[in-house]
Amino acid sequence: MTDLRQDTLDSFAEIFGRPADGLWSAPGRVNLIGEHTDYNEGFVFPFAINRRTIAALGLRDDRIVRVGSSFADELVEIDLSDLRPEALSGWSSYPLGLAWALGEFGADLDAVPGFDLLLDSNVPVGAGLSSSAAIESAVGFALNDVWQLGLDRRTLARAGQRAENVAIGAPTGIMDQSASLLGERDAAVFLDCRSLHAEIVPLGLEAAGLEIVIIDTRVSHAHATGGYAERRASCEAGARALGVESLRDVGVDDLDRAREILDEVTFRRVRHVVTENQRVLDTVRTLREQGPTAIGDLLDASHRSMRDDFEISVPELDLAVETAQANGAIGARMTGGGFGGSAIALVPTDALSRVYVALDGAFAEHGFGQPDLFTVTASEGAKREN
Ligand code: ADP
Ligand code: MG
Repeated sequence: MTDLRQDTLDSFAEIFGRPADGLWSAPGRVNLIGEHTDYNEGFVFPFAINRRTIAALGLRDDRIVRVGSSFADELVEIDLSDLRPEALSGWSSYPLGLAWALGEFGADLDAVPGFDLLLDSNVPVGAGLSSSAAIESAVGFALNDVWQLGLDRRTLARAGQRAENVAIGAPTGIMDQSASLLGERDAAVFLDCRSLHAEIVPLGLEAAGLEIVIIDTRVSHAHATGGYAERRASCEAGARALGVESLRDVGVDDLDRAREILDEVTFRRVRHVVTENQRVLDTVRTLREQGPTAIGDLLDASHRSMRDDFEISVPELDLAVETAQANGAIGARMTGGGFGGSAIALVPTDALSRVYVALDGAFAEHGFGQPDLFTVTASEGAKREN
């Protein structure tokens, strides 16, 4: 990480021919529990991870913006007067879309100065760890400083979501940006997606001798986008049939009535969301009362619910979860939108190598590609590095 910071500063000086004014960073995130609950105005419980995007930035005395990334060969240049979502494309839509979105939250884009920006990152792209929110949050945090906007972290999260929805065109909620901006060391962010109220809840993983393992299956199924939209539509249909604004308004006690009203498939979709919301609340309470060794069953139940009721798991994710569980994990579940991506496992430190070996063996035995295995720790949100 130290190297990444220094490298980014050195590259900035080389590319732009002058030193940066400062260095900012923001983390990716993983969702501990609470899947497909965000757009149902429910609860999610992500944490910021120890993989970060670094942004080196220097203000200019004209209105030009130039952005570069270690991921791309070319520099992208635009005049601030031309900054509109329709003018953006490719990877630079993330940093430039964020600059545009700040205009929606109070920045006077007709008056602010241009800037040179260089990005580097060790957040894996497309693994479900939100490399996109890491960029938006790092750039938002940096511009908020140099443009002296005085926006708080929650507003920067909303700006990141606006950039993602409008400039990128991804209909995502506010979970990723909230985790990246509000995260703290060894703690997760309990977020109510209706009120946007966020609470920091200590995880206590290190003290309990526990690790969170990411099992990136590296599979991505073609129907991910269609499947996501279809699940969203089922949730909306279920809420309509039950006469509520969103599934947030349905509790576990209402499920018997729901079973009578809804068709079989819609009922199972609804049951996932309703029980998943309850599992988030139970996880937060269990952590506070008994600590992290007691949350394993809730993670396991979350996976079963996504596999059987919401039907968004795939054989690689099921294998990852079952293998981890059978080899010493306290709990495991797929994480993210589904149809591929990563699973997480809560593993005692002394069982780590056994879990790794078992996963490698099981994937080989089933003829699946090797998964990418690594641990993450809960880390602090966006910050100025120097
Ligand atoms: P994720 O689950 O990782 O957030 P997304 O599809 O939402 O996946 O975002 C990934 C996209 O973000 C990449 O395709 C790329 O355009 C952009 N991106 C991520 N990290 C960087 C980076 N360091 N530099 C430039 N672009 C990046
Ligand atoms: Mg993303």
